[in-house]
Amino acid sequence: MDKNYQVVIIGGGPAGLTAGLYCARSRFNPLLIEKGIIGGQITNAERVDNYPGFPKGISGTELGQLIHEQATSYGSETLLAEVTKVVPGQKHNLVNTSEGDFIAESIIIASGAQFRKLGTPGEDRFVGKGISYCATCDGPLFRGKTVAVIGGGDSAVTEALYLSKFASSVNIIHRRGQLRASKIFEERAMAEPKIDFIWDTVVTQIEGDGVVRQLALKNTKNDRISILEIAGVFVAIGSKPNSAQWRGLLPLDEEGYIITNELMETKTPGIFAAGDIRHNSARQVITAAGDGAAAAISAARFLSY
Ligand SMILES: Cc1cc2nc3c(=O)[nH]c(=O)nc-3n(C[C@H](O)[C@H](O)[C@H](O)COP(=O)(O)OP(=O)(O)OC[C@H]3O[C@@H](n4cnc5c(N)ncnc54)[C@H](O)[C@@H]3O)c2cc1C
Repeated sequence: MDKNYQVVIIGGGPAGLTAGLYCARSRFNPLLIEKGIIGGQITNAERVDNYPGFPKGISGTELGQLIHEQATSYGSETLLAEVTKVVPGQKHNLVNTSEGDFIAESIIIASGAQFRKLGTPGEDRFVGKGISYCATCDGPLFRGKTVAVIGGGDSAVTEALYLSKFASSVNIIHRRGQLRASKIFEERAMAEPKIDFIWDTVVTQIEGDGVVRQLALKNTKNDRISILEIAGVFVAIGSKPNSAQWRGLLPLDEEGYIITNELMETKTPGIFAAGDIRHNSARQVITAAGDGAAAAISAARFLSY
């Protein structure tokens, strides 16, 4: 493995893999570094129905493998390692990893994010089998069914409003007695007849057989336990960027997402960011892939001048 690269890509999710494909096709020998699973977050999705070109859907793992295969076939190199630090320089940047150091003329950061989990017993068992972290991705699967949304901020309320287009009823379960969402979303949710609120309540157990069937709920005021029968649960308690290593290196927003312009450029020339790690990302495979392509094109322009 060489030590000098024109482009080092950090993260092997849809954004990083697409950036690898575009850089390799433009002959800017890229090195893609992934610390976990090639494919990123989408490998957790049993089926992806909203990525164009797959009218029957595709498993997240297979989609990740196919993009990787395509990028590799054009010469994108892959290293399984964790990037621990990036040290920017005038002409070359130093990339420290768990498998050694590399020199990069440009860097595309595509380190993604993670949905916050509830940590409730049953959650991991039913991911993709009734538990979802994304209404845009999975909402249409629950047409005519009863679902629950867990959370009380903007994302929970907007997810509930979106789900009310498909589900027969939507229960917003919130551990407090009032929402933290913006007034405008709150008013819309309150006016939506399909949405009900279950206040001062936490989920203590997610239960089912092959799929989710019911939630055990506990009222935090009186400790009363109740059962709610549902077909789907949308966990909407926020997400966390994988950006610990970029603090102090680049401007981040208050939640830790990287700020870029629409060309995926950060404040540091030659360092780009793409996908879910970006401030205000739509957090979809298609938008991450689009960002990856845009970042690669911007990196190519940077390297050519
Ligand atoms: C259960 C689930 C279902 C989903 N379903 C859908 C769906 O149906 N449709 C849809 O469009 N979207 C879906 N999504 C969202 C989609 O997966 C993400 O929007 C997309 O994966 C973002 O791509 P990304 O490349 O930006 O980041 P990620 O996929 O998060 O990839 C980032 C990668 O970077 C790696 N990384 C992080 N830090 C480092 C480091 N320091 N060194 C090396 N590697 C690092 C991580 O290990 C990770 O593999 C789903 C997400 C989940 C969790």
